[in-house]
Amino acid sequence: MSEGTELQKALFNNKKNGWESLEEGKKQEIYDYCNSYMDFLNNGKTEREIVKEAKYIADTNGFVDINSVNSLKAGDKVYYVNREKSMYLAVIGYDNIENGISVIGAHADSPRLDLKPNPLYEDDGFAFFKTQYYGGIKKYQWTTIPLAIHGVIVKKDGEKIEVSIGEKESDPVFVITDLLPHLAQEQMQRKLSEGIKGEELNILIGSIPYNDNDVSEKVKLNILNLLNKKYGINEADFLSAELEIVPAFKARSLGFDESMVAAYGQDDKICVYTSLSALMNTNNPKKTAVCLIADKEEIGSMGNTGMMSQTFDTFISEILNKLGVNRPNLIDKVYSNSKMLSADVDAGTDPTFASVVEKNNAAYLGRGVGLNKYTGGRGKGGSSDANAEFVAYIRNMLETNNIAYQISELGKVDIGGGGTIAYILANKGMDVIDCGVPVLSMHAPYEVTSKYDVYSAFETYKAFFNLEV
Ligand code: MN
Ligand code: MN
Repeated sequence: MSEGTELQKALFNNKKNGWESLEEGKKQEIYDYCNSYMDFLNNGKTEREIVKEAKYIADTNGFVDINSVNSLKAGDKVYYVNREKSMYLAVIGYDNIENGISVIGAHADSPRLDLKPNPLYEDDGFAFFKTQYYGGIKKYQWTTIPLAIHGVIVKKDGEKIEVSIGEKESDPVFVITDLLPHLAQEQMQRKLSEGIKGEELNILIGSIPYNDNDVSEKVKLNILNLLNKKYGINEADFLSAELEIVPAFKARSLGFDESMVAAYGQDDKICVYTSLSALMNTNNPKKTAVCLIADKEEIGSMGNTGMMSQTFDTFISEILNKLGVNRPNLIDKVYSNSKMLSADVDAGTDPTFASVVEKNNAAYLGRGVGLNKYTGGRGKGGSSDANAEFVAYIRNMLETNNIAYQISELGKVDIGGGGTIAYILANKGMDVIDCGVPVLSMHAPYEVTSKYDVYSAFETYKAFFNLEV
């Protein structure tokens, strides 16, 4: 080796593809883990379904509802489910909680289409549902793909009807139609953002008229009659429903080498799964380990199930109460001494659209867990920007545990930007850094990740919860 080569090896930050020089046993471990991850995705496409699944996983791993216990001690495992849509879990540490807790926070909601309160109408012999989109989507991507309907309808007496249709092979699916190219000359002149407009996201749901010459809107009546027989509902019951339209695709391995995962909703169910399974592998930690599954991240984290909600503070206060240590302002002190990984996906570099990233500061699939010191846009706007001291602490943890990682930013300067729940917890006083998995086609009906990075995220979260320092 020449002197220069040795110097280069010592001084350069060499970024390498994680698959290279990976032992065969480890590769199998990664593939097995991702099979469970894909099952998790197939069992939960909405925040309610993910929380239900997370609760099942927690229950089978010895966690109990915090409301069912009067006191807590080191090693105890508890959770709180907030309105079926968000959830907080904790494993109590043996250190004085005043010295801070370790938090990993992900979100279970993903971009999708929601039914409007008055969704059902008939037009030219078809029945449709009107939708309102949820989160940042490219609307044209949601046409001409098989769609499923998931959610709840709550009747005025409180009876709750759970809906999931379009997933089983024997189920029908639903679709948003698009214009044939032959007649699309005008449409093709529209800007891509308006290729399909919001009010054109209408779901086709039926076409048989009710057999009675005396009635109008026969197709609508026929659909309502079917829904009444299947679910016991009438048209007014849609007013108090949360019905979400999601792609009917299953999560699949991607590529001849099966190295990637293609699935709907990986933003951010990927970090829910990896952080949750890390917590399930956490016993008797030093710091109290907290996993939070937030809702509403895609629409600004507001509301009582979003991260801005007071309910997270209430959960931590309950832990302090049940440890028997609470006193005025203790929660603020705990937060000020706490560390958090904001577990959310990162934009992976897509070679087809490489011009939007600056390649020295871009995240690449297959290079390990992706960290963002800052997010935001146009001059770090709105970002909590992690302190150098905390970044060093996390780097040390990753390198000590031999976990591949990359620190990047979300696209070129002045190109775009984005945000996560990081700033919300940072505002409470915690040290926070964004730390998740790079994704291709983020927010599309079918998102792509590398299995190597999925596993790196799991290893990162496990190491973070089990730190002894
Ligand atoms: Mn996200
Ligand atoms: Mn997102």
